[in-house]
Amino acid sequence: LEAETQMPAPSTRASRDAEDAMLPKIMIVGRPNVGKSALFNRLTRRREALVYNTPDGHVTRDVREGIAKLAGLRFKVLDTAGLETFTEDESILARTAGISATALRKCQIALFLVDGRAGLQPQDTDVGKWLRKTAPHVKVVVALNKAEGIYNDSTGRLMAALGETHQLGFGDPTPISAESGEGMGDLYDTLRPLLEEAQAEILKNSPEGVLEPKEADDDSHLNRMPMQLAIAGRPNVGKSTLVNALLREERVLTGPEPGLTRDSVSSQFEYDGRKVRLVDTAGWMQRVQVKEGPAALSAMHARRGVMNAHIVALVLDGEEIANTRSSMRHAEAALARWVVQEGRALVVVVNKMDLLSGKENAKLRGNVMKAVPAEIQEILPQVSGVPIVFVSALEKKGSAAIMRNVFQCYEKWCTRLSTAQLNRWLRKVMSRHPKNTSGQGHGAKVKFMTQVKARPPTFVVFVSGVGELEDTDLRFLASALREDFGLDGIPLRILQRSTK
Ligand code: GDP
Ligand code: GDP
Repeated sequence: LEAETQMPAPSTRASRDAEDAMLPKIMIVGRPNVGKSALFNRLTRRREALVYNTPDGHVTRDVREGIAKLAGLRFKVLDTAGLETFTEDESILARTAGISATALRKCQIALFLVDGRAGLQPQDTDVGKWLRKTAPHVKVVVALNKAEGIYNDSTGRLMAALGETHQLGFGDPTPISAESGEGMGDLYDTLRPLLEEAQAEILKNSPEGVLEPKEADDDSHLNRMPMQLAIAGRPNVGKSTLVNALLREERVLTGPEPGLTRDSVSSQFEYDGRKVRLVDTAGWMQRVQVKEGPAALSAMHARRGVMNAHIVALVLDGEEIANTRSSMRHAEAALARWVVQEGRALVVVVNKMDLLSGKENAKLRGNVMKAVPAEIQEILPQVSGVPIVFVSALEKKGSAAIMRNVFQCYEKWCTRLSTAQLNRWLRKVMSRHPKNTSGQGHGAKVKFMTQVKARPPTFVVFVSGVGELEDTDLRFLASALREDFGLDGIPLRILQRSTK
C-alpha cells in the first residue's frame, strides 16, 4: 500500500514516460450509446484523468486518453464523444468531428463499437464511412458490444446482430460486453497481432529505437487449470490398477479427496509439468465392488464423472475382447455415446494386453487390434479418429501413450480458430463442396462462420436465403473442419443461424 502511494523515483518515472510515449494508440469509435465510455473505463480501470475538454456550447465534449491494460497488453486508448453529433447540429459536427479526426489520425487502430442489442444502424454505417475517409491508414477492429450472453441467447438476436455487423466490411466482429467483461479474451486475441505490429513500427521509426517491445503476459489460463480426466469402465477391467500406475509414476499433488458429491473422489497429479485432476467415475478409489450384471456400469456414478470430466478414458478388457466376439458391452457402448453427446473427448484404453503377448497369441492380439477400432467407428460414426491405446496397467506399460493421447485430445478440444481464419478457410472449402452451397440457385447459402466457444469447439454458420442447410452440408463442414484443422477424434458442434 505504502509503495503505491509514494511517488515513483524520478528515473523510473522518466523511463516509464518514455515508454508510454511509444505505446500504440487505439481510438474507440462508434455512434452514441454503444458503450464507448463503458469500454474505456473497463480498459483503463478509470485511472486516467481527462486530457482535455472542448466545451462546445452547453455540452462538454471530451477526448479522454488513458493507458489501457488488457491481459498482458498495454496500449493507449482514446475515447471521444466527438462523433456523437453525427446526426445532430451540423456546426457542432464540423468542430467535434474535426477533433476526433485529428486524434484518430495519430492512432494506429480504431476500435469500432456496434451495439449488439440494437443491431446494425444506419449511423453505424456512417461511422464506417467516416473512418475510411478520415484515416484510411488506421486499422479497424469491429466489436459487437452489449453482447453478454450471446452464446446462450435463445432468441438469436445477438447472433443476428453479429452477422449484420460483418457487413460493415471491416472483417470479423468480436462479441464483447464492456459491462460484464465477457469477450475480453477474444478482444485480446484480435488486438494482439495488430498491437505488436504497431509497436514494432513505432520502435523502428523512433530516433532512439532502443526500447524493447514488452512481452505480453501469457494469460492462457488453460495451463493453470488442471485438466479433468475421468477413468471409466466396467468393474475389473483394471481402472484402479491403471490409476495407481499413473499416480505412482507422477508427482501426486493431492491424494484421494472427497469431491463435490459424496461419491465423487478426485486426485491431482502433475504429468510433464501439467496438472491433471483425476475424476472418479465408478468408485475405483473406494474400491466399490459392484457385481456384474445390469448394474455393472454404475450409470449414475459414471455419468456424474463424465459431466465433471474434460476427457474420458474408457477402459476395456483386452483379454475379454479376445475371448468374445464383441469388443464392447452394451453399457460401454452407451457410455461412449454419452461422452460424445456431452461434448467431452474420448480416449479408448484397451487394457491387459500382457495376457495377449507372445508369439502364440499373435492372432488373438491382431483380432483385438482390429475389432476395437471397427466397433468404435460403428458406435460413433460422427467422430472419426478416436484414439485407441493398447496397454498393460499391471506391467505399467502404456501410461505415457495414454497421457500423450489424452493431452492431444485436450488441446484439440480447447482449440480456438479466429473468425478471419475460419472464413478464409470457408471460402476455399465451399468451392470443394460437391453441391457448392455458396453458389447460385440453392435455397440456403453459407455466408460466414464463427467459432462461438471451445471445449468442445462449437461453430455457428450463418446462412442466408430460403431454408436451411441440410445435414449432409453440416456433416461436410464438420469433416472438412476436422481434416483441415486436425480436429479428428473429438466432438464438434456446428449450429446454423439465419442472417435474417
Ligand atoms: P457511449 O455513448 O458510446 O460512450 O456509451 P456509454 O458507455 O455511455 O453506454 C451507453 C449505455 O449502454 C449505458 O447505459 C451503459 O450502461 C450501456 N452499456 C455499455 N456497455 C454495455 C454492455 O456491455 N452491455 C449492456 N447491456 N449495456 C452496456
Ligand atoms: P477395476 O475394478 O476396473 O478398478 O479393476 P482393478 O484395477 O481392480 O483390476 C481388476 C483385476 O484385474 C485385478 O486382479 C488386477 O490385478 C487385474 N489387472 C488390472 N490390470 C491388469 C493388466 O494390465 N493385466 C493383467 N493381467 N491384469 C490386470
